[in-house]
This record gives sequence, C-alpha cells and structure tokens, in this order.
Amino acid sequence: KEYNGPVIGKLNKLKAENMPVVMNDFYKKPLVLHQGRMQWLFDHEGKRYLDLFAGIVTVSVGHCHPKVTAALHEQIDTLWHTTSIYRHPKIYEYTEQLASKFPGDLKVVYLVNSGTEANDLATILARAYTGNYDIISLQSCYHGNSSSLLGLTATQAYRFPIPAPPGFYHAMLPDPYRGIWGGCRDSYSQVPGACSCPGDCDTSDKYIHQLNELLENSVPRGRIAAFFAETIQGVNGAIQFPKGYLRKAQELVKKYGGLYVADEVQTGFGRTGENFWGFQNHGVQPDIVTLAKGIGNGFPLAAVVTTKEIAEAHKKAAYFNTFGGNPLASAVGKAVLDVIEEENVQQNSKQVGKYFIEQLMDLQKKYPVIGDVRGQGLMLGVELVKAGTKDPLNVEGVADILEMAKDLGVMIGRGGRWNNVLRIKPPMCINKGDVDFAITVMDTVFKSYTENH
Ligand code: PMP
Repeated sequence: KEYNGPVIGKLNKLKAENMPVVMNDFYKKPLVLHQGRMQWLFDHEGKRYLDLFAGIVTVSVGHCHPKVTAALHEQIDTLWHTTSIYRHPKIYEYTEQLASKFPGDLKVVYLVNSGTEANDLATILARAYTGNYDIISLQSCYHGNSSSLLGLTATQAYRFPIPAPPGFYHAMLPDPYRGIWGGCRDSYSQVPGACSCPGDCDTSDKYIHQLNELLENSVPRGRIAAFFAETIQGVNGAIQFPKGYLRKAQELVKKYGGLYVADEVQTGFGRTGENFWGFQNHGVQPDIVTLAKGIGNGFPLAAVVTTKEIAEAHKKAAYFNTFGGNPLASAVGKAVLDVIEEENVQQNSKQVGKYFIEQLMDLQKKYPVIGDVRGQGLMLGVELVKAGTKDPLNVEGVADILEMAKDLGVMIGRGGRWNNVLRIKPPMCINKGDVDFAITVMDTVFKSYTENH
C-alpha cells in the first residue's frame, strides 16, 4: 500500500565484476533495494521489508523522512557547497544546535564526512593536546578502517595482514557474557534480570586491573594520549560493559595522561533511549566524542565534539576539510536534530526498545539457540549459540536464520566476533506493532530452525 515507486522489473543478474566492493552480499539471494519509507524498505519487485538494521544503524529517524528530505531539497535548490573557507548560516545554526545537545564543556564541533574520519581526527586531537602518542582501545572494537586506524580497530575480520601502525594497544573486553570474569548479564537495561549490583558491578574492577597492567607493563613510559571506547560495542554485537567500568577506566586513564574518546557513532542521538548520548548512561563526561551514521540519517556527515581547551591544541597546524559539514550536510543534520526533538524519538527508542527486549527474552525461553539477549533502547543484540552450550552458532546457521527472516519480510543485521549475533538497530521510528510483526517472524524462523537442526 505504501509502495508508490515504479517496479523496475526483475533483475535476473546484476553484474558485480566492475564493483570493487569489499563486502559480500549479506543474503544468499541478494536483496535489490529500490525504495524506502521510514522503517520500511521495498525491493525491486515491490516486496516490503521491516528494516531492523537501518543501513547499519545509520537511518536514525526513518528512510526518506519527509522533513529531512524537504530540508535537503530546499538546500539543493539554493546552494550546495561552500567549503570551510567561506561562511554559511546553515553550518553555524547546525553546529550551535548540535553543541547544545552536549553537557559541560563539550562545545567545539568539527564537521567531517565519516566515522573513520571522525575517529582519525580524534586521535590527532588527543595526541596534539596530551603530547603523548599511544592509544588504548578495547578488544574486538571497530572504530574505522583508514590506514592509521587499522591499529585502533581491533576486530580481526577488518584487519588486513599488513603491519598496523605503532602505538595502539587493546585492553581486555569487559564482556559480561563471554568475558573470563563474567559479570552482570545485562548491566544497563530497564528489563527484568538487569544488573542489580547496588553500586558498581564487582567485575568492572577486574577489568580495570587488567587495563592498569597494560598501562604499567606494556605502554612505553606509561603515558597515553587516549582511551577509545563505544558506550555499547556495535559491530561486535551490542556488548554492554559492567556497571562502573567506563567511569573507572576514564579515571585511570587520566592518571596516565590520557583523554577518554567516546565513540557514539552507533549509540548516539537517543538510540539507547535513556539518554541522548550513550556516555550519559555511564555517568561519564568524555573529553572527545565522535559521531557519524545516524547524525545524517544516511547522508554523509560525521562530527567530532570536544572542549575549547583541547581544540586550542589543534591549532598547531591548519585544519581543512573540503566537504565536512557543507550546506547540504548541515541542512540534513539540522533537520535530523529537529525531527528527533519534535517526534520524541528518544522516548520512542526507550519505550519500544524496552518492549522489544522483553519480547526477545520471551523468545529466548523458548529457543535454546538464543544464548543471550542484551542491549538498551533500540541497540539490541541476540547472540546465537549451539543449543545448550555457549559455543557460537556456525555462520551457515546464522545465515539461514537471517535469510528466512528476510524472506518473511524482516531485515536483521549480524555481527560479533563469530558473526553469530543478530543486530537489531532499526530506524528509531518503529512502533510496538512493528515489534510484534518482527517477533512473530523470528518465532516462526527459530521454530523452523529448531525443528530442522
Ligand atoms: N565507529 C563505529 C562504532 C562504527 O560502527 C563505525 C562503522 N561501522 C565507524 C566508527 C566507522 O564509520 P564509517 O564507516 O562512517 O567510517
């Protein structure tokens, strides 16, 4: 009913040999997408899918959201591009509005084009400010894929067999489900079974001890420029940290001269529901925050937000960025923020996310192939295992499950170290009816999988 585009005919074979695309097709029967409307996608034959992955957590307020589309149209007809050597009101309005979303001194905004570029700039800022070189991130993290970030990103699947740049270290991942010290299964959710530790979760101290060891025994002179961490790991499958970990990590790292860089590329803009930024859920105030993906609802836009004091140190050399936050990108970014405010998007993430995770936990009781359900707001993970064990479900099994769900009209993401975590991070406009539909499909899929394996 909502599909109003032309049906472009059956595409029997799309020639891919000229495309240097690194990713493999997600599905065995590749999906050819044609149109998007809010939480819905339509393929080339007009078949409708509920999008639970949002172009990898990027379509924040909905595909072709009318207000964002209108803002883009208006700007396209007026002026596309200026570069940062000239002034344009949209860029000022946008950066002011974005900065107003941050607590404390986080008021200086650099507009760039991608998450990789944002994290790259964050490494330069941290090094310029502290005068230190070394950087620590967490095992299995993903922060980008430029040659300089090949050391920062730890997840093996994305590391080329070439020497990573020096100066990067990876601390043990404080993963309550698979980490050697266990910990609370679900530290920050508002759902039954969430962490009930009265204060910080005890296990956080053990991981902090290991971080301390790394600083004392591995990092030369024990001086670092920065500690990078997402506030819920995204690519690695919605890994939440034990309560207190991030706060204690920041305190510790500060003693060794380092800044805390919060990568909010996936967790920002109200996705976790409780707060606008994921770091607020942990009670921390980062020194630098990096943003991308959902910031532009699919338009290439990213940002680094920091304090005046840190930005001052960056003036040691000139900084120039041709496209970063040009009028088109700023018009889109501004419209996205307006929509988040006007349509109570964060509140929706909280309410619908809570409902979603509760339904997923009910499914977990029925199907032993579901090892863990976790996450917060609309940043959820469902870890699949061989029934009755913690062994990751094999990739073929996961692929079958994803394929069946897609054939029944629900697109789900995938991630985690063993590629066995279903990633549920939809456009934040989904409603409870959509969740019911998704759960019905997942129920059917898990039933069929369980009966046939
Ligand atoms: N940080 C995180 C947490 C990400 O998930 C990603 C992308 N998956 C990036 C950074 C890099 O963003 P981009 O692909 O825009 O370079």
